Order: sequence, then C-alpha cells, then structure tokens
Amino acid sequence: MKYYIMFGPPGAGKGTHAVALRDKYNLCHLSTGELLRAEIAAGTGLGIKAKALIEKGNLVPDEMVEKMIEKRFNTIDDVQGFLLDGFPRTLGQAADLDKMLAERGESVTAVISLMIPDEMVHARIRGRAAVEGRVDDASDVVIQNRINTYHAQTEPLIEYYSKQGKYFEVDADAPTIEENRARVLGLMEKINK
Ligand code: AMP
Repeated sequence: MKYYIMFGPPGAGKGTHAVALRDKYNLCHLSTGELLRAEIAAGTGLGIKAKALIEKGNLVPDEMVEKMIEKRFNTIDDVQGFLLDGFPRTLGQAADLDKMLAERGESVTAVISLMIPDEMVHARIRGRAAVEGRVDDASDVVIQNRINTYHAQTEPLIEYYSKQGKYFEVDADAPTIEENRARVLGLMEKINK
C-alpha cells in the first residue's frame, strides 16, 4: 500500500487536487475535515465535541482524528493506497501515524505539499465560503486563526518529513485550478519514478 499525505495551508487546494490523484492512482481519499463534518452532520458525540473547536478554527484532539484514520486503514483494502488530506496536522499525529503504519509493516510514501502565500489563503477561502457554506470559512477571524494554527502546529512537519527525504513541494498559486492540477500531477509522476 502507498501512503501519500496532501499537505499545505487551508485553502491550498488539498481536497480539490486529491480527487484527481485519487482517480488516477486508485487511492482512497481520506479527508479528516470531511470525516469530522460528516460526524457533525450526523449529530454524533464526537461531532458535537468537534463542532465547537472547528467553529473557532482550532484543531480537534489528536486521538479523535487518529481513531477515524485507523478505522479506515483497518477496513479499506480494495485500493492501491491512501491519500491523507489534512492529516497529520501536528508532530504528535505524525509520530502516531508512523507507529500505526510500522505496526502494519508500512510507512509514509511521500508528502505532497501545496504552497500558497498567506494573503492567498484569505482570498481562496472567501471564494469557497460562497460555494460550500462552511461555518469555519465565514469569518476572517476564524480564517486567521487557522492560518496561525497552521504555522505554529502544522508547519514543523515540513522539517519532520524533509529529514526523512519524503517532502515534495509544489507552488499551488497559479490562477486556475487546471494549471495547479497539472503541477500536482507532474510532481506525483516525479515522486513515483
Ligand atoms: P479541513 O477540512 O482539512 O480544513 O479541516 C477543517 C477543520 O477540521 C480544521 O480546521 C480542524 O479544526 C479540524 N481538523 C481536520 N483535520 C484535523 C487534524 N488532522 N487534526 C486536528 N484537527 C483537524
């Protein structure tokens, strides 16, 4: 099994480009954000706990997302691999993912990092808010908190995976989705050579 990580700040296009990679490489796309939003919509206990944190732009506890991911690793096997979107987001989650995979005799294959400047995050998310109606996309204060959280808690993963030679970055700042998708697909080809 391959284990790819879609990495980058909020609004970088992780979910959008994950779909193209999923279809081309027969991967299971696991977005922790989407899984959490499904729990919220279903009104589960986990969803109720997650909602309050997500609405403020804070991360949910590591173990909450790790359980959701592990459950899928245990039940999905009709694919070539997994495409993790929005996970891991902390050094703790990265270490736990390594353990989870080591127990299966597996390891992270590569990190596909989509880079966009902070100013672009605001513009992209404002555009998305109009289409998807996510509560955490609606307020500039919450968006800024998510950007700050990304820099403080998620960015250290760049060094973590660079040291392992698994970090691959692409500028995802082109004006059109098609151009950015071509860049992401190009990077993936390079990784798999
Ligand atoms: P996303 O759809 O990836 O932007 O995620 C939406 C929100 O879900 C984030 O702002 C966090 O509050 C929460 N979330 C998603 N993935 C994680 C994760 N790996 N760790 C902690 N919180 C997460």
